[in-house]
Formats: sequence, structure tokens, C-alpha cells
Amino acid sequence: MKAIVVRPGERDSIHMRDMPDPQLKPDQVAVKMIRVGLCATDAEINHGLYGKPPDGEEFLILGHENLGVVEEVGKRVTGWKAGDLVVSTVRRPCGVCANCKAGENDMCSSGRYTERGIMRRHGFMAEYYTELPQYLNKIPKAVRDFAVLLEPMSVVEKGIDHAFLLQRRLVWKPKLAVVLGGGPVGLLAAAVLRVRGLRTIVVGREPETDHRAQIALAFGAEYLSVAGRTIVEVQQALGQPDFIVEATGNARVVFDAMKIIGTNGVMCLLSVTGGDAKSEEPVDRINQRLVVGNQVVFGSVNANPRHFAMGVKDFVAIEKKWPGVMSRLLTNRIPWENHKTWFSERGSGIKATLEIRLK
Ligand code: BGC
Repeated sequence: MKAIVVRPGERDSIHMRDMPDPQLKPDQVAVKMIRVGLCATDAEINHGLYGKPPDGEEFLILGHENLGVVEEVGKRVTGWKAGDLVVSTVRRPCGVCANCKAGENDMCSSGRYTERGIMRRHGFMAEYYTELPQYLNKIPKAVRDFAVLLEPMSVVEKGIDHAFLLQRRLVWKPKLAVVLGGGPVGLLAAAVLRVRGLRTIVVGREPETDHRAQIALAFGAEYLSVAGRTIVEVQQALGQPDFIVEATGNARVVFDAMKIIGTNGVMCLLSVTGGDAKSEEPVDRINQRLVVGNQVVFGSVNANPRHFAMGVKDFVAIEKKWPGVMSRLLTNRIPWENHKTWFSERGSGIKATLEIRLK
């Protein structure tokens, strides 16, 4: 079959090539890919900064944000049939740590997990893949147009879920949420927070006329443009956030944001930053604020199967409440043969996808 691969560790190695067809085992499902979503992690892997091929192999089939359709079902599989729409989870357990053994492989403590399309396991930029049903999510028809967003949605769901779990340490009635970053993750977070009933302000670099800002407004959120300013400089307009979701991809913003969390507030960090930036910070003041304000700052990566399930449920609720808005996140639909265009010039859209086959 055709697949898009990289040679991890090497800069700009991305190309299409023939790879062996996956063999369907009796306890697996064979899936024909429809499209994959592209994100900063894919770009970093192609920059040679991240990612590993499967043990003993040279190439890694890239791609972790996925949507496909079931082609064939193994003899021992029940509950799935050809034609079902499907999104696969990304991470697989290490098999040794207590969290993975308990089914919480997003919290793997050995570091020996694998991730499809990222770490030592082939991904979804291919014509087909096979997988065990326990890692697959069935997609309702009502959300099929934007279901390729389920993987980033699951990351958002986990961050928000964990924030609420952490805040069980007190009586927490959050009213104001601030989302830093107007990219796909930021806008998905805004949609989830709005569906949970929180007043939500999305903060982005783009002007208020930008597509991102319009989508935030369409979800009932507010949008604040910080072009050329820092978050601290616009603190008055933001008030005292109970909850901050950081999704800018810029680690400097994290330390600025620590200066504006409200009393008893919580901040969830979602940006995987692969660079090596340095910065001088007023550490005494930041620390004092965190301590005296009883604040929590936590990082969150990947997601558990239950966060994928929450994502599907919220997709249905969001589409019902704000019909058609989610699909507006998918701005750049690229035929997969033309994948190099995105990797060389990312463009100004929100979410780009590689279209592998017509539905
Ligand atoms: C993916 C996660 C993954 C993380 C680190 C992100 O882009 O969405 O599933 O765990 O990268 O590899």
C-alpha cells in the first residue's frame, strides 16, 4: 500500500512510498483511511526533532489524527461491521507500569509506551491500518465531517477533565475560563468550555476580524487580540480567570500566564514545545502568587479512551448547539499526494488535513 513516511531524526525526510500491507488478525479490524489531520507534532517529526520508527525499522508511517472507515472485520471481532466510521486512539501501553496495566496509558510512568505515527509504532498516513477494537471509537454520522478532530479533542477533554479532578481539593464554581491560543486546540477547548457553561475568553495573536476569532464568537466565546502585547499587559481585560488553558505552542506565554491566574485557580498546559528557548522570569513573584493564591499549574499530554468517548459526546452536543461551526476549523483540505506543500509552507489556515480517499 501507499504510505507517507519519514526517517525520524533526519530533517525533511517526508515522502510517499510503498509499504507492506497490514495483515488482518482474527481479533482485529481493518480500516481504510479517509483523512489525517496535521499538527505541530507532525512538523517537528519531519524536522528531525521528535519521533522514532518501530524497533528495527528505518521508516515511520507518520500521522496520528485520523478518520477511517471499517473495511473488514476479523473472525473473532464483535460489535464492528464494514462501513462503520472510526477514529483510533494514539498511545499503546508499555505493559509494565501500573498506570498502563490499569488502562491509563496516557499516564504511563515507564516512558516505554508507543504512539501511532509518533513513537515506535506506524501511524495513519497510509491507505489502510489494522487495530484491536479496544483502541477504536465509533463515529456517529452527525459528526463525520469534522470527526478527524477527535484526537486533538481528546487531548482537550483530558486537560479539562483533569483540571476539574484537581479542583476537587476545594469548593470550585468556575465562572471565567481563558484559553490562550486560537489554533485548533484552543478553539476546541473554547467549544468544550462553552458547552460546560463557562464564560470563555480566547486570547490570540490574530486580529478580531480573523477566521479564528469569528469561530470563537460563533461558539459563544469572546475573543481578545493581543497582537504585539503580552498577556500581562491585557490583564485588566481578562479579569481573574478561574481556569486557564494554554495552547499557544509558545513556552514563554506559560510564565506570563502564571502571573494572571485567579485565586484558587488552575492552569492546564497543553503545548508540546520541542525548542530550546531561554527566558528570564521574576521567579519570586511568580512563586509567591502561586503559593499565596493556592494555584495549580499542570501539564497534560495524550488522552485516555474515556476522553475520546467524552469527545464524541461533546461533538454531538456542540454540533447540535452551534450547527456547522466545528467544520469551519477544517480550513485546508490537501490531497495527500501534495503533502509536501504543508510541510514546507504551513500557511495561515486553522486545521489542515491530508485527504487520502473520497468518502
Ligand atoms: C499528540 C498526542 C501525543 C503527543 C506527544 C501530540 O501531538 O496529539 O497524542 O501524546 O503529541 O507525543
